[in-house]
Amino acid sequence: MTAPPLAITYGDIAAAHDRIREAAHRTPVLTSRTADAMTGAHLFFKAENLQRMGAFKFRGAYNAISQFTTEQRRGGVLAFSSGNHAQAIALSARELGVPALILMPQDAPQMKIDATRGYGAEVILFDRYREDREALAQRLAAERGMTLIPPYDHPHVMAGQGTAAKELIEDAGELDVLVVCLGGGGLLSGSAVAARALNPDIEIYGVEPQAGNDGQQSLRTGRIVHIETPRTIADGAQTQHLGEYTFPVIRSLVDDILTVTDDELVRTMQFFASRMKIVLEPTGCLAAAAVLQGQLDVRGKRVGIVLSGGNVDMARFARLTLGEPA
Ligand SMILES: *Cc1c(COP(=O)(O)O)cnc(C)c1O
Repeated sequence: MTAPPLAITYGDIAAAHDRIREAAHRTPVLTSRTADAMTGAHLFFKAENLQRMGAFKFRGAYNAISQFTTEQRRGGVLAFSSGNHAQAIALSARELGVPALILMPQDAPQMKIDATRGYGAEVILFDRYREDREALAQRLAAERGMTLIPPYDHPHVMAGQGTAAKELIEDAGELDVLVVCLGGGGLLSGSAVAARALNPDIEIYGVEPQAGNDGQQSLRTGRIVHIETPRTIADGAQTQHLGEYTFPVIRSLVDDILTVTDDELVRTMQFFASRMKIVLEPTGCLAAAAVLQGQLDVRGKRVGIVLSGGNVDMARFARLTLGEPA
């Protein structure tokens, strides 16, 4: 019996790259002698905290909306998110002249609500304890003729996210290891397809918060494991399960999934701020934490690491990096 084909191919990622090139930044690949000395490896950091709106999610959102039909463009795009996906959809929609509606929990940080409105999207707040956001989103999409774009489980989103690893390998050269953070698996699945195509022998690892290791459990058991919303400072990876499209890709292309603790994330944020002058949000540190805190033996290897985002407000950043309770 042959397995069904994976949701995306390298060709989809190359096509996504052509679509987003006009709008997305080709973010820099950073190196650090200190980080290399700490690990005995040669590390290449893909700085997606410097992407537009502050995270890689712009890639997937822009790739998805730019493939809308004329009718879909007229109807607009709908997303539910309190985080980076909301801002990515809002900004991409504005760039492409498409109306956007974002559903956010009413207790989302005011800064994120304001940022999303600032990109020109309409924001509707809902009560996350009393309303089913998926049902609400489906109803609004049907009523208004809008197209729902989910944060990770969509082939166009996955292909867009995969352009980050494509650029990393093009700019850094051949890699032995690729390490990518994992929430719902949009970034990891896209990156794995790109990396396997460009460097077939590469080792690929996903990294998730220890408190929410559903991805690790899923890989080990061979089916999508659902968990309660995990308690972790990595708010961009508080997903409860991998996706129907992302999981088969991860299962067939990723070598293993590792976990890191919140303390390890904080130490990694401190490292990037003090040594590399880079602000990362806790989720943005997942992949780097696994390597810098010694979860993975990378001695003598060329290692690509995606720094996925930098959206953290300064007060929270200060509390976390100065060691006070968050
Ligand atoms: C969304 C997000 C993730 C997780 O990405 P998935 O595609 O859901 O796995 C990681 N880091 C940041 C900064 C994010 O915004």
